[in-house]
Amino acid sequence: MKYLIILSLLLVSSTAFAQASMIATDSLMSHVRFLSSDALKGRETDSEGNAAAAAYILQRFEDYGLMPAGKESYRQPFHFYSRFPKKTYKATNLLAMVKGTEVPDSVIVISAHYDHVGERGGEVYNGADDNASGVGALLELARYFQANPTPYSLLFAAWDAEEVGLRGANHFVDEPTVPLEHIILNINMDMIGRNAKEQIYICGAGHYPELRAPLDRIAQKAPIQVRFGHEAPTPTRSDDWTYASDHGEFHKKGIPFLYFGVEDHEDYHQPTDDADRIMPVFYTAVAEVIRKAILHFARP
Ligand SMILES: [Zn+2]
Repeated sequence: MKYLIILSLLLVSSTAFAQASMIATDSLMSHVRFLSSDALKGRETDSEGNAAAAAYILQRFEDYGLMPAGKESYRQPFHFYSRFPKKTYKATNLLAMVKGTEVPDSVIVISAHYDHVGERGGEVYNGADDNASGVGALLELARYFQANPTPYSLLFAAWDAEEVGLRGANHFVDEPTVPLEHIILNINMDMIGRNAKEQIYICGAGHYPELRAPLDRIAQKAPIQVRFGHEAPTPTRSDDWTYASDHGEFHKKGIPFLYFGVEDHEDYHQPTDDADRIMPVFYTAVAEVIRKAILHFARP
């Protein structure tokens, strides 16, 4: 009997340890490896590689049992005209929903862009950190919250055409598939997979100070450095990330945002932004911080 008690205590504590991260490193990394493989040729908007990335994300949304959050499906297709290069692009946002258990009309948009810059001079720009890392976390968070829904609804958005000027998020806020006034927060992830100093930045709480205190509590318990900044009220101009990625489109509409990202590294927008340079333990810890932030903010 005594033996059994000790054994069960051991089992309980080992389970607790295993649950220290609810997001699986292997799953995160397999998404990153696929999305940043040479076969996808850098996922440039309106290319075959980009369509293959979209197909991969759609298959996961379906496999995980998520509800479509486009008008009729997960897809939100759109066109836009770019002046540099002069071209009309076809693009597609991918939208999925986990309906809230108590206040479904309050929605948090959790997002990451899946496009990257494609090929240049015959070299594939793989975009492992930028932004296969964000999409990997988006997929694993979607899977987790589908199994563990929150009081508020969560809309998971994989944006297209970020690299051409935040076009996917811009299209979504212009033609939102849920009323814009229902969206209480955007949590955006762009480059979250590596940092030599093991630092992740959160930008947004400077603009929306009411978001800061719970993040401080989560940061204190994190095994990585969680820093705040790159924003008002104390940015230098070049250092301000307020409009550096898709969250900027939400901020323009007055919707609070939190952007999670690392400082630029030597492989940023280089053909060497590869999956083997992602730091799996750091990356998982960042995804875990984001999971905890969502748990906190997705309730009354
Ligand atoms: Zn990016």
